[in-house]
Amino acid sequence: MDEQFEKAMAEINHCNKCGFCLPVCPTYRLTGNELDSPRGRIAMVEGMLLDEIEAGDGLEASLSYCLGCRACETACPSGVEFHLIAQAGKEVLDKTRPKHRRITLLPRTLLRMTTNPARMARMARWGRRAAHLPLPGRLKQLVPMLDYVPETVVPAPAPTEYLGEAAFFQGCVQEALFQDANQSAVELLSAVGYQVVSPPSQTCCGALAWHAGRSDEARALARANIAAFEQSGETPVVNTAGGCGAMLSEYDEVLADDPEWAERARRFSQRVRDWTGLLKDMEKPPRFVGTGERIALQNSCHLVNVEGGGEVPAQLLGNVEGDTFVPLTGQDQCCGSAGIYNIQHPDWSMRILDSKMTEVEDENPARMLVVNPGCQLQMTLGMKRCHLDGQVEHLARYLYHAYLRGQEQSARA
Ligand code: SF4
Ligand code: SF4
Repeated sequence: MDEQFEKAMAEINHCNKCGFCLPVCPTYRLTGNELDSPRGRIAMVEGMLLDEIEAGDGLEASLSYCLGCRACETACPSGVEFHLIAQAGKEVLDKTRPKHRRITLLPRTLLRMTTNPARMARMARWGRRAAHLPLPGRLKQLVPMLDYVPETVVPAPAPTEYLGEAAFFQGCVQEALFQDANQSAVELLSAVGYQVVSPPSQTCCGALAWHAGRSDEARALARANIAAFEQSGETPVVNTAGGCGAMLSEYDEVLADDPEWAERARRFSQRVRDWTGLLKDMEKPPRFVGTGERIALQNSCHLVNVEGGGEVPAQLLGNVEGDTFVPLTGQDQCCGSAGIYNIQHPDWSMRILDSKMTEVEDENPARMLVVNPGCQLQMTLGMKRCHLDGQVEHLARYLYHAYLRGQEQSARA
């Protein structure tokens, strides 16, 4: 903790309390309360680390209501790395709060399941049926987000060129609930010329455990993934889940204080990219053809604010022939899903979602595209809450269909 304390204090001392981060913070925008802002949270953690305030419920609430979206970091003129401060605060809280209150039953069950996609898929199937069970209203309102049946993905046509290799990271929620998104990305990358391998011993990225302050569990998962992907040499490590990608890209930070793993983690993090980055790299981009629809995007805040390359999904959508891409003002802002935030704080999560949905309602797109499984669940719920018919779909599945249409049209021409 000492090194982490030093790092957190260094970041706290960088903060000049200017407040530029406040307007971009979704929770501050919701309440207007300083304690729900990045600056307020920094002040609370500082007080706790300096033993000026007790690690109690006030600080716990302030930190636990933070979405971890990192929008405050991109707005900060002083480059304050807010997440290092928040993480130090969460770890102290996790160690000081009574054991029975460390984490409630549902989040704990979910954390355990992340290393077992098959069990998670079973839970999702059970969850769909739970609509008929007498659940508490705050949980029952979330059930419609599970309304999704993955489609069978047709195999890609044989590639005509070789562009290199890529190692594919599946992600636990993505692979359990939206495996057709993963398969579509792999098929599309393979069709354009990448040789894609998916190391079988990979596991959950550890983001949920890390953000819950359970850093030892997260570090163990990070080590397992690094070892699994070292077998694929120096090839890019690609993923279709912005939240996982952000976590993978920061394994260097997660394991910085581990002398045995720090260098391996640094090399691994340098390899991490969103899968769309490989499409963008292509000298001659593939032809994508739509079906004359209006489409919109809910981007991943972790892809935009942490992993990097968050501009690529919108660029790709702007180049789809036949469809009209409608950029939303808030497309890069957090949807309120944020890992298991919508389960831990459903009221705030729904308020953040509903405010986003006002713009979606105005535009009423036929397809709402997403680049992260948490956003897919949340936006599915948002569309249902607004009684909108538009389909929520992962960008990979949409682009793969558009690619196949492009191939078909080119062959006919
Ligand atoms: S913008 Fe940066 S320096 Fe200003 S209050 Fe926020 S964290 Fe501190
Ligand atoms: S991470 Fe997001 S929710 Fe948390 S303080 Fe920063 S902007 Fe606000």
